[in-house]
Amino acid sequence: MRERVLLCMAHMSGNEMQYIEEAFKDNWISPLGPNVNGFEADLEGYLGERKHVVALSAGTAALHLGLVMLGVGQGDEVLCQSFTFSASANPIVYQGARPVFIDSEEDTWNMCPDLLEQAIIDRKQKTGRYPKAIVVVHLYGMPAKMTKILAIAAKYGIPVLEDAAEALGSEYMGKKCGTLGTYGALSFNGNKMITTSGGGALITPDADSKRQVTFYSTQAREPFPYYQHEKIGYNYRMSNICAGIGRGQMTILKEHIAHHKHIHDLYEEAFRDIDGITLLTNPDERFNSNYWLCNILIDSDKTGFNYEDLRLALEEANVESRPLWKPMHLQPVFADCDSYLNGVSESLFNKGLCLPAGPWVSDEDIALIVDTIKSMLKR
Ligand SMILES: *Cc1c(COP(=O)(O)O)cnc(C)c1O
Repeated sequence: MRERVLLCMAHMSGNEMQYIEEAFKDNWISPLGPNVNGFEADLEGYLGERKHVVALSAGTAALHLGLVMLGVGQGDEVLCQSFTFSASANPIVYQGARPVFIDSEEDTWNMCPDLLEQAIIDRKQKTGRYPKAIVVVHLYGMPAKMTKILAIAAKYGIPVLEDAAEALGSEYMGKKCGTLGTYGALSFNGNKMITTSGGGALITPDADSKRQVTFYSTQAREPFPYYQHEKIGYNYRMSNICAGIGRGQMTILKEHIAHHKHIHDLYEEAFRDIDGITLLTNPDERFNSNYWLCNILIDSDKTGFNYEDLRLALEEANVESRPLWKPMHLQPVFADCDSYLNGVSESLFNKGLCLPAGPWVSDEDIALIVDTIKSMLKR
């Protein structure tokens, strides 16, 4: 049988083993070493904007340390995009703070700037304080409307943490996602744009912030000959072996992104004349998505089938697809949290499907997926 088509699977450049072998040869089998430094330097060079990057054990760890650096603590509120993966919101709770969820806008599917400002004003009225931070997500690689969001954040003096876990290489107005806010988080989990098997990074504004994040990520050891601790620390540093994979992956990042964009172009072409199927696409020239996953909305009145019908049909053809992220304000675990809603993310969740887009997905796979969809339309 034909191999299963997966959403986005790890894909090696072939250069990874050389870095891993060096680590073994020099016995750098630890959460520090030349690969960790080299991977950080590669990321800093790639992202530009004079940013300083700390390689960590996960994107979730990066988001957590971003909140630590912004001083988020017990009793604080943090405004967080509702339409996202739970890892955007969980670290807020780790800090003893409360997430307050903000709905999306229709063109980017990301945080609605108008609702963001309404929420800031309303929280101030209700609690007497402004929220401590804003977590904005570039979901599926699509940049959020950062000019507006940053202007609102600046107006009320609230720092922005970007969750760019899915958006490595995406750009907003020529700048890389993750470099626009005060801090930005990246993920290198197995299915992201590049992988270190598991890992993440925090993009920080300056050398001093990088030093502090590194300090927190390595158990907050003060500079004494014995172990002295004055702050709560974390064991979040990236392993030198994983960073070796990361250095190898950096050599193929541009090709991965080009491939994801190529797959998006094929879907765009195919869905152009299908009434009732809309592909998430850059709204205008300010946006340059890496098209990590390609996502469609299905208007079942026009197509005669919904996302679950299509998911099952693709499954039949041995193709993986997945419903869009279920918004956080609809998750049982966050049922007690306040939220500012306009119905957009719930409607996306009820109509959308993620289609395969990773480096292993071929033009023939896309043809198969498109044929499957077209054959359902005829019924
Ligand atoms: C993957 C992901 C994360 C978490 O990254 P990990 O490396 O898996 O911890 C956070 N936010 C979003 C939007 C993600 O997709």
